[in-house]
Order: sequence, then C-alpha cells, then structure tokens
Amino acid sequence: MRKKIVAGNWKMNNTFQEAEELISVIAEDLDEKDIKCEVIICPPSIYLEMASDYGEESVLSISAQNVSGYDDGAYTGEISASMLEAMGINYSIVGHSERRKYFNETNDQLAKKVDRLLDNNMKPIFCIGEQLEERESGKQFEIVEDQLDKALFHLNKDEFSNVILAYEPVWAIGTGVVATPEQAQEMHGFIRGLLIKKYGNDVANETTILYGGSCNAKNAATLFANEDVDGGLIGGASLKSEDFVKIIESF
Ligand code: PEP
Repeated sequence: MRKKIVAGNWKMNNTFQEAEELISVIAEDLDEKDIKCEVIICPPSIYLEMASDYGEESVLSISAQNVSGYDDGAYTGEISASMLEAMGINYSIVGHSERRKYFNETNDQLAKKVDRLLDNNMKPIFCIGEQLEERESGKQFEIVEDQLDKALFHLNKDEFSNVILAYEPVWAIGTGVVATPEQAQEMHGFIRGLLIKKYGNDVANETTILYGGSCNAKNAATLFANEDVDGGLIGGASLKSEDFVKIIESF
C-alpha cells in the first residue's frame, strides 16, 4: 500500500519563536490522535535543527524546502544534501513553482538536486504542474509529462521508488482557486499512467502523488477521496495549526 502523506510547506514565514510555537502545538495535538498518514513539516532551513528535535519526539517528519545540486565546496549560500542528511532530515522539496519562477530553476538543475538527495539516501518531494495559460490552452498534460521526463525519468526503477510527487497546478498555488476533485484525479491518474509506462505497475502503484494548491480544511477530504490523490502539499493552511491538523484528519 502506498504511503498517504500530508506535508506543510511553511515557505519564508514565521520568526523562530512563531515557528517553534507552531510545530510544538501541531506535535502535541497529533500526539493525542490516531493519524492515518505520515505528516511532514517543511520549515525554512534555518529552523530545521529545531524542527528535527521536535520530529524526534513526535510523529512529525521534517523536510527541507530546497537543496543544492552540488555536493560540497565553494557555493556560497547553498546547503548540501549531505548536510541535511547528517542532521537527520529525510526529505527535501524540489522544483516548487516558486523556485522555478523566482530563482529560474531549470529541469536540468532540478535533476541534479534529485540526484544529490538520492546519493544521500534522502527522498525528494518533487513538484510538477502547469501555469494557467497552459491549462487554458489544453497543454497541461504535455507540460507535466515534459517536467517528469526532463527532471526525473533519467532515474532507474530503484531510484525512482524513493521519489514523492506533488502535482501543484501553478494557478492554484496561493490563489484560493483549488483544482476540482475531477481535475486533480484526472491529472493524478495521467501521471500514474506515465509511471506505469516508464517503471511498470509495481513502482507506479507504490508512488505517492500529492496534490497542492489552495488545499484547506474544507476541501481536503473531497480531494483526498480520489483514487490517485495520496495526500497534500499544503502552503498557506499549514501555517495555522488547527487548519493543518484538520487537513491531516481528512483521511
Ligand atoms: C504550495 O506552495 O506548495 C502550496 C500548495 O501553497 P497553497 O496551499 O498556499 O496554495
């Protein structure tokens, strides 16, 4: 059975004190509940050490939001996969649309980031998704296939089995416009179909595919009820403990 996951991407939000308060409330709250999915918190990198201390004492797993495509050396400002791994961090988001847009990250660079994570026994949470104009012109499937092809399909079966995918239509991120359950299932089913062709049934059926984009406490259950939607990558709603916990309880 493939893993169900709810991951909270905090992006560049919260002071240290606010971040610690948020994670401690979430950890405490979940401690008393029967949780049916893995819960991953993705704080800003400067808070990873604090977050991983909470992770050790609770059900929470911790993820970075980004990782370098380089191993080590003279790359000012970068954080390597081996540094994250040595801190006990098991995941990193790769290819979030904000990194593609504001930091011009290309599929080639993203492929290198994925490789560094896998070299260090970490799992990428790899984001794919089309822009509004691309959906409006009916190109969403082509775009998503191209992103997978260029950044992930160089991996062999064993390598790919460590990848978590997040379908995040860019028009739904932070906009309040959520994909309908039908749109989400249609794309997730399409992605799983591509994985079947490339890696076979076993790998495809074990791959977790998250939905991201204005997912909240009200719409999570109908999104997660779809056959190929295995959870969510949550932005805004992950910054409020009550909302985030409700999303987790949607399974
Ligand atoms: C995201 O940034 O990954 C995201 C899904 O954001 P939001 O939930 O705020 O749309």
